[in-house]
Amino acid sequence: MESTIRESYDIVIGLEVHVQLKTNSKIFSGDTASYGSPANANTSVVTLAHPGTLPLLNKDVVSMGLKMALACHGQISSRQRFDRKNYFYPDLPKGYQITQDRDPMCRGGYLIVQTRNQLHRIALEKIHMEEDAGKSIHHEDGKGTSVDFNRAGTPLLEIVTKPVIRSAEEAAAFLMEIRKVVRYLAISDANMEEGSLRCDANVSIKPRGTAELGKKVEIKNLNSIRNLSHAIEWEVDRQIELTEAGHPILSETRTFDTALGKTFAMRTKEELNDYRYFPEPDLSPVIISDVWIEEVRQAMPSLPHDVFEKFVREYMLTTADALTLSETRETAGYFEQLCTLTPRFKAAANWMIGPVKSYLNDRGEDMDQFPISPDRLGALVDLVEQGQVSFSMAAQRIFPVMLLAPARQPKEIARELNLLQDNDNRSLERTVDEVIKEFPLKVEAYKNGKTGIVSMFMGEIMKRTQGRVDPKAASKMIEQKLSEK
Ligand code: ADP
Ligand code: MG
Repeated sequence: MESTIRESYDIVIGLEVHVQLKTNSKIFSGDTASYGSPANANTSVVTLAHPGTLPLLNKDVVSMGLKMALACHGQISSRQRFDRKNYFYPDLPKGYQITQDRDPMCRGGYLIVQTRNQLHRIALEKIHMEEDAGKSIHHEDGKGTSVDFNRAGTPLLEIVTKPVIRSAEEAAAFLMEIRKVVRYLAISDANMEEGSLRCDANVSIKPRGTAELGKKVEIKNLNSIRNLSHAIEWEVDRQIELTEAGHPILSETRTFDTALGKTFAMRTKEELNDYRYFPEPDLSPVIISDVWIEEVRQAMPSLPHDVFEKFVREYMLTTADALTLSETRETAGYFEQLCTLTPRFKAAANWMIGPVKSYLNDRGEDMDQFPISPDRLGALVDLVEQGQVSFSMAAQRIFPVMLLAPARQPKEIARELNLLQDNDNRSLERTVDEVIKEFPLKVEAYKNGKTGIVSMFMGEIMKRTQGRVDPKAASKMIEQKLSEK
């Protein structure tokens, strides 16, 4: 599509995000809420909604909901209720879902979200608690459908944004921020593949700069961040093409086919159920005291965006470095500890983003599995910064030994491997660095194959040190430094 046509429209997106909470038991019964059990293993009579059974609210769900509400700056309802949302589906044992319709966990609030070069404040409509439904498994041979009720009654938080998101990129950034926040709060695994983080996207377009919102289309069950952005991009194009051709947009629910990369109509809004919401008579209202809110607030960790800002402000990191290091609570915590041990924040950040991160990536491990303590890594950072060993020796020779023997002191390893530079060596290194920095064009020429240029660098170093260096050591160091460039 021509970009001028695209630019004559505004894109409007509202997201409905479902987060599965990491509680031990389900929201209204003692059944285990964990993922991956054999089908129908976690299904007592309460989950199966046998007559005469009653729901009993799991307090942990409310505490987790309060954490999220506080993290999103929402106005917490002091008296919350549950409602029944009635519809029929084979994986819904009760024939209704218990959810919060009128008095949800909180209303309003926002999350700060970062795209490539901008901060966005995404306003929220509300956050509410509800139970999940079971799972229908449609057999591929067409021979029927099986139902697994393990998921029925597991606790969810639904986070609903206002229609304020302006692009697929911003929508993806919002979902990533939700994932980050709930993981920081340790209230969900937020794993899209396992379905503990799910997202519906409401998408509409309108002529650029006009106020009235267009008819929205809801795209259901987007199960990856990539699919979320692809579905939005495709849907926006579809809506613009229809509008340009003079056709109306129907309010409908669509599904995204990942293989074809297109959205398809599932049902129009007119066919939708009337859910006949009414208050759940088997549960009393939930009273949220200020004391409870305070208790939850006290137990909250710092949030990713605050950590990010702190890293930029206090440790003078670049935006990109601060984002990388605040990605998980474990990484951020490790880095902060490192910064209490060494004043060389930038060097510490480089070690984390360089050798540490590639080690973890190679092994598919997380920060909490990293064997070296901040204390030992800090000592290694300092060793390099004081010029006692070169960075490349530290990263290539000492770091691997530390990974296998995390209790050992880096300096001792350096001594054993004969990597400690004496004073002469250090001042030689400084001179080499100086010369390399002053002659960027010569460095460029070297990289393009003019290896003879080493002798020019040698001459320069001899001049500056009045010949007081070992020429062999000097030329070796020049070649090493140049090849690292
Ligand atoms: P419904 O009653 O159809 O569920 P809601 O008003 O509850 O609609 O909104 C559901 C979601 O759709 C919210 O995230 C909201 O921001 C979003 N939304 C509402 N109107 C629009 C629109 N015109 N374009 C895009 N998103 C919208
Ligand atoms: Mg709705």
